[in-house]
Amino acid sequence: MKIYADLHMHSCLSPCGDNDMTPYNLVNMAKLLGFDMIALTDHNSCRNCKSAISVGKEIGLTVVPGMELCTAEEIHCVCLLPDLDAADAFSQHIHGTMPPVENRPEIFGEQRVMDTADGVLDTEPLLLTTASSVSVDDLVPLVRSFGGTCFPAHLDRASYSILSVLGFLYPELQFTTAEFTHKAFLPQYFEKHPLLQGMHIVRNSDAHYLENMVEPAEPLDLRENSAQALIDYINGIA
Ligand SMILES: [Zn+2]
Ligand SMILES: [Zn+2]
Repeated sequence: MKIYADLHMHSCLSPCGDNDMTPYNLVNMAKLLGFDMIALTDHNSCRNCKSAISVGKEIGLTVVPGMELCTAEEIHCVCLLPDLDAADAFSQHIHGTMPPVENRPEIFGEQRVMDTADGVLDTEPLLLTTASSVSVDDLVPLVRSFGGTCFPAHLDRASYSILSVLGFLYPELQFTTAEFTHKAFLPQYFEKHPLLQGMHIVRNSDAHYLENMVEPAEPLDLRENSAQALIDYINGIA
């Protein structure tokens, strides 16, 4: 079935995410824009996924728990998990791989953990935008061990993308999907990086502000509207 999905966006838990990007607001905005599914992918944490999933259940939008992991090489990768338990376990694991750098809200922004009705439950003390100690070489097996999947983010960006950091992709990474921004002209990437030709390509908003959220473009062909169906599609099993 055709599923319109935005698989990369940030809530107010990300220091760079606007405080108006609450789980309540972003899930409702996605529904208004016409999406069937979103993934909430804050930097290095899944702590706002619980509320986003709850809001999604109330209004009929599938919310896939996830995070945008910063690898040891400073490569951003979107990680997607099948359910909240897996996301919490993965989030705690990643927490243990990060340097003990405290957030300075006055410089980097607040990192708010929210309930389902725009109430602040907590603020995350650890700075979430630092690199974890997880290497990109180990990422696919790691996320799969939690039942999830992952793909390298915004390949056409000049910073924190695998092509800007490493310059190329190689099969041992085991990526089956790659993300580009909506602006990318793909043929030039396919020519330069033939590995992409056998991969799923996804384009997502990477919204940090409500006004960055965009209307659905290309649908995904999933067997059903669920996190597991999405993960199987990304992994190439569906
Ligand atoms: Zn990023
Ligand atoms: Zn992002």
